[in-house]
Amino acid sequence: MNEDNLSASRRRRVKRIKVYLVVIFLLLLISPSVISIFALVNLRGLDAKIEELSDRVDRIELTYILKSEAAASLEAMDEETAIEAEVEEDVSLAPIERAEDIVFDERDVPEGYKSVYLTFDDGPSIYTSQILDVLDTYGVKATFFVTGIQAKNHPEWYKEIVDRGHTIGMHSYSHIYNKVYADEAAFEQDLDQIHDFILDTTGVDCKVFRFPGGSSNHVSTVAMSDLCELVHSKGYEYYDWNVSSQDATTPIPGAAVIVNNVVSGTGKYERSIVLMHDAGDKYSTVQALPAIIEGIQKSDKAVILPIGNNTEPIQHLGVSSEE
Ligand code: ZN
Repeated sequence: MNEDNLSASRRRRVKRIKVYLVVIFLLLLISPSVISIFALVNLRGLDAKIEELSDRVDRIELTYILKSEAAASLEAMDEETAIEAEVEEDVSLAPIERAEDIVFDERDVPEGYKSVYLTFDDGPSIYTSQILDVLDTYGVKATFFVTGIQAKNHPEWYKEIVDRGHTIGMHSYSHIYNKVYADEAAFEQDLDQIHDFILDTTGVDCKVFRFPGGSSNHVSTVAMSDLCELVHSKGYEYYDWNVSSQDATTPIPGAAVIVNNVVSGTGKYERSIVLMHDAGDKYSTVQALPAIIEGIQKSDKAVILPIGNNTEPIQHLGVSSEE
């Protein structure tokens, strides 16, 4: 009996030692994997950081490239307008040296200056950030008439427009003509949807609107005058344009053509609302933007400013649609 007890307790001890050995063995076996997993997680973090940094470098490079391209585009114009440019230099003697730095409301535009509103339709897009970078470089504010197309995947793009001090406007949620203009109820539902989305995402209770295709579009099956009334009944105002960059024509024109369309157009009017697009297939608009801004600032006594709730609209009266 005693000997049985002894051998039983020995067996238990041996068994315990065996378990210890197995546990130690297992620990040794899995520890490299655990260490590898930690290393991998760290590596991922570093990768993300590298990506972020290279993204930043890309943006800086892009701004530099765009500025060089702008300088090149403007060189040709400079030769033609050398005399005008000399006259423009006298503007610096005026009390306001660079009106763009201080004017954000049309009522503050100095006498003798033109007002130019740069507007971008159909965004936000993969180019919104780059457009905002260019605008920042020149200290200029613009207006973005947005759709809800990126609402689900990139709500942060809408926020960025507002956070960086620009005007966000409504341009319809779906931007599908047959749907938006099917009947008055469908139009109102779409308008409410984009209004509420902007409010929820950016906190802006938006009052400014641009009809898809403009108020002069020929695709609506509802009388546009009825829809204009509906927009007004909600306390909103709609804005068309009197200068088109024609960046939505097919084939999409190159940057030089877009620059020329805008700069020659704004030269004709005391007040210009310029139609441009912020869309994934319209990189030439991004390329054209620096030269557009420099061209407006150089060849005109002009102030570039964003549309606000007090901005007097430009509305089409039977002008053919371009969008
Ligand atoms: Zn549009």
